[in-house]
Amino acid sequence: MKPVLALIGRPNVGKSTLFNQITKSRNALVADIPGLTRDRQYGDATYENKSFIVVDTGGIGESEQGIDAYMAEQSRTAIEEADIILFVVDARAGLLASDEQIARDLRALGKKVHLVANKVDGVHAEAAVSEFFKLGFGEPHHVAASHGRGVQQLLEDVLAEL
Ligand code: GDP
Ligand code: MG
Repeated sequence: MKPVLALIGRPNVGKSTLFNQITKSRNALVADIPGLTRDRQYGDATYENKSFIVVDTGGIGESEQGIDAYMAEQSRTAIEEADIILFVVDARAGLLASDEQIARDLRALGKKVHLVANKVDGVHAEAAVSEFFKLGFGEPHHVAASHGRGVQQLLEDVLAEL
C-alpha cells in the first residue's frame, strides 16, 4: 500500500497549488476563489523512488453550513484515510481563528501532522511564520507553492519518516 498524504487547511491557503506541484500536474483547480475543490482529489506522486498518494481537499472554513459543511466532511474523510497530514497555512494571511480550530481537531486525532507555511514569497519568512508555532506542530516547513519553492525539501523531510 502506498502511503497517503492529505492536504488539509482553510480554503485559499494554496493546497491545490501544492497538490499540482507535488503531482507535477494541473489537475487541481487553482484560483483565488474559496471552495473550488469540493470533493477530494487524488493524485499519484513519486519523490526519489518513493511512491505515494496525495489527496487535495476543499478545505475547512468558518462555516459549518451548506457547501462548507460538505467540504469539511470531505476533509475529515481525507484525514481518516491519511498516513501523513500536511496542515497548510497562509504566511501572508497569518494565523486565523479557523487555523486554530483545525489544529484542535487534528490534535485530537493523534496522527502525524506536518505544518506547512505557504506563500512565503515576498514576505519575511521567519517573521511571517513564527506565530504558527503556537499551533503546536513544531517548526513550520516554509514553501511558496506557486513558485515551487521549498516543495522538494518538504517532501524529503516528510517522506524520510516512512
Ligand atoms: P486552496 O483553496 O487552498 O486550494 O488554494 P489555491 O491553491 O487555489 O490557491 C489560492 C490562491 O493562492 C491562488 O490565487 C493561488 O495562486 C495563490 N497561491 C498559492 N500558492 C501561493 C504562493 O506560494 N504564493 C502566493 N503569493 N500565492 C499563492
Ligand atoms: Mg483548492
